[in-house]
Amino acid sequence: MSDLATLPGVGEKRLAALQNAGIASVRDLALRLPTDYRDYTVTTAVCMLESGMHTVFFAALKKPPSVLRHGRLSVTTCVFADDTGDIQAMFFNQPYLRQTLRVGQKYALYARMEVFRGRLCAQSPSFVAPDELGTIQPVYPPVAGVPAKTYRHLVRLALEQTALPEQLPEDLRARCGLCGRAQAYMQAHFPQNPQALFAARRYLNFESMLLYQMQLRFWRTQGQNGVVIDARARMAPFFQALPFAPTGAQRRVMDEILNDLAGNAAMARMVQGDVGSGKTAVAQAALYACAVCGYQGALMAPTEVLARQHYASCKALLEPLGVRVGLLVGSMTAKQHRLAHQAIADGVWQVIVGTHALITETVVYQRLGLAITDEQHRFGVRQRTDLGKKGAGVNVLVMSATPIPRSLTLTLYGDLAVSVIDELPPGRKPVHTHLVPEHKRQGLYGFIAGQVAQGRQGYVVCPLIEKNDVLALLSAQETLESLTRALPQLRIALVHGAMRPAAKDAVLQAFYEGQVDVLVSTTVIEVGVNVPNASFMVVEEAHRFGLAQLHQLRGRVGRGDYDSYCFLMADGGQKLRILTKTNDGFLIAQKDLELRGPGDIAGTRQSGASGENAGADLKLLELARQEAQQAAARMDEPAYARLWAQARLQESGGVN
Ligand code: ADP
Ligand code: MG
Repeated sequence: MSDLATLPGVGEKRLAALQNAGIASVRDLALRLPTDYRDYTVTTAVCMLESGMHTVFFAALKKPPSVLRHGRLSVTTCVFADDTGDIQAMFFNQPYLRQTLRVGQKYALYARMEVFRGRLCAQSPSFVAPDELGTIQPVYPPVAGVPAKTYRHLVRLALEQTALPEQLPEDLRARCGLCGRAQAYMQAHFPQNPQALFAARRYLNFESMLLYQMQLRFWRTQGQNGVVIDARARMAPFFQALPFAPTGAQRRVMDEILNDLAGNAAMARMVQGDVGSGKTAVAQAALYACAVCGYQGALMAPTEVLARQHYASCKALLEPLGVRVGLLVGSMTAKQHRLAHQAIADGVWQVIVGTHALITETVVYQRLGLAITDEQHRFGVRQRTDLGKKGAGVNVLVMSATPIPRSLTLTLYGDLAVSVIDELPPGRKPVHTHLVPEHKRQGLYGFIAGQVAQGRQGYVVCPLIEKNDVLALLSAQETLESLTRALPQLRIALVHGAMRPAAKDAVLQAFYEGQVDVLVSTTVIEVGVNVPNASFMVVEEAHRFGLAQLHQLRGRVGRGDYDSYCFLMADGGQKLRILTKTNDGFLIAQKDLELRGPGDIAGTRQSGASGENAGADLKLLELARQEAQQAAARMDEPAYARLWAQARLQESGGVN
C-alpha cells in the first residue's frame, strides 16, 4: 500500500489518479517539481501593458462581454479598464462568464499579453484570488482527477513529511554559493519571492548537473562495467530486412556504434546528422544488435507523434526478425500503462519506444543494455541523462539534427564520442525556399492548387508560442478557414497539439494515406511524420521560428522524387534570407547560434525558470564539471564518499 493513502484527502480515487500519473509515493510528490510558475507579485497599470508580459492587472469590466463561436471553440471578449486606459481580454471556452461577470466590478486578472489582429490583448486571463495576490504560484503538469488546488495542497503536506537530507558537502555548497537541499525543494515548490526561486532552481540544477558529471566520470574511468553487446557478426538479417541500402555515412556510423557496443566500456556517443540523413535506421541497427544479444534497448523521442512513428517503423522492420517491440507514451490508459510496465519488467519487450514516460521512476527494465535519445536537444539536461540511469553500465546514444559545438559537447557530455552522418540518401533534392510577402498570398494559393492538381500534398505550419496556446490554435483554425475559402476544391485538414492523440493520429494517418491534400498544423509535425509525396510547405509568421527550427521543418518536404518548395510568409525578414540560399544544416545552425546564443541549441534552458538565462546555465554546468573533478580527487573524505555513493546509486536506477 502506498503511503500516499495516509495523506488527508487522498481516497481510493485520488490514489489511483496519482499513481496513473507516475506518482507512487509521498516522496514522489515532494520531488516532482513545478514546470512553471505564475508570478502574482508583479502588477501593472493598464497603460503600461506590453506584448509578451505575464502580469497581474486590476481593472473593472467596462461593458457586457460578447461571445463568439468558432467551431468547437468559444471566445468571450471583454473590455476592462482602469484609470489609465482600456484593455481587451479574450477568454476561451468559458461562455458562462457572460452571466457571472458584472459591469463596473473590479477584478484582479493574470494573463499573458499578446497582439492579436493588430490589437493588444490579454490572453485567456485567470482571476486571482485576494489571498494569492503577492505570491508566486507553482504550476504542475496536470494530473487527471486531481484539481490543481488540491494537488498543490497535497504537495505541501508531502514536503512536510519528506526528509531531504543534504547530499552536497558543506564546503562545496559554500564554495558554489548554494542554498540547502530541503530549502531548495521548499522554495522550488512554494517560492517566497523571485530571488528565493532563483536560488532554489540554481541549487537543483547544479545538483543534477553535478551528479551527471560524476556519472560521466564513471563511464570513463570504470572501463569494465559497460554492458557488452557484440553483434558484429550477427547483423546480416538486419541489413537484408532494411528496405534500402544504407549510405556510406550511415554504414560508417553503424560500424562505429557496433564497435562501441562490443567494447568493455559503456558507449557514450552522439550521432549528428542533418534532417533526413537517416538517423532512424542507425538507431534501429543498434536496437537490433542489442536485442539479438539478449538485452533491452530503449528509444526515447521528444513528442508522442514521433514516438508513435518510431514505434511503427521499428515494429515493421524488427518484428519480422523476431524482435518484440513495445510502446510507452503518456496518453495510454492506466491499464495499458500497467501492461507496458509489466512487459518491460519481465523482458517481454526487447525494444521499447516511447516519450519521457520511459524514464518515469516506476518503470523498471529487466535488462537494459542501450538507451537512445532522439532529437536530444529537445529534452532538458536532466531528462536526457535519466534514461541511461535505468540500468548499470547502459550504453548511451544520443541523436541530434542540431550540430553542437565541440566545446559545448565537452561540457554537456564529457568525453562523448561524436559520429557525423554527412551524406544524404541518394536522390534528395534541395528544397527551393522563398520568402513570400503577404500581398503575394493569392499567387501562392494558385501555386498550391497547381501542385495538388499534379497529385502532390503539402503542409501549412502555424507557429505555436506556448504549449496549449489557444490563440495560436485560433489562428490555425482561421488559416484553415481562409485556405478552405480560397481553395474549396482541396481536401484540407487541421492537426494541433491540443487534440487528443487518437484524433491527431487519425488526421496524420489520413494525410499519410493521401486522403488529405493540405495539412494545416501547429508545430507538432516539426519532428514527426514522413510523407514522401509532400512537396510543399508554407510557414505562417516565419519570423517567429528560429532558423534551425525552420530548417528542420522544411526537412519534412523534399523526401520524394519531386521538386519541393518551402514558402516562408514574412514581410522583410533579413535573418530568414540564409534559408533561401543554403540547405546546409550545419551552416544554418551556426548562424542560429550567432543569433540566439548557445543556450537554446544545447537545450539547457529550463522552462519556467524565471531569471535564468542560457549563459548562466552554461556557467553552472562548467562549475559542476569542475566540482566533479574536485570530488574525484577527494573521494577519501567521508562527505565526498557519500556523494559518490549517491551518484552511483542514481546510476544504477536507485531512488533519488
Ligand atoms: P532523420 O535523420 O531526419 O531522422 P530519417 O531517419 O527519418 O531521418 O530518414 C528520412 C527518410 O529517409 C526516411 O524516409 C528513411 O526511410 C529514408 N532513408 C534513410 N536512409 C536511407 C537510405 N540509405 N536510402 C534511402 N532512403 C533512406
Ligand atoms: Mg529523426
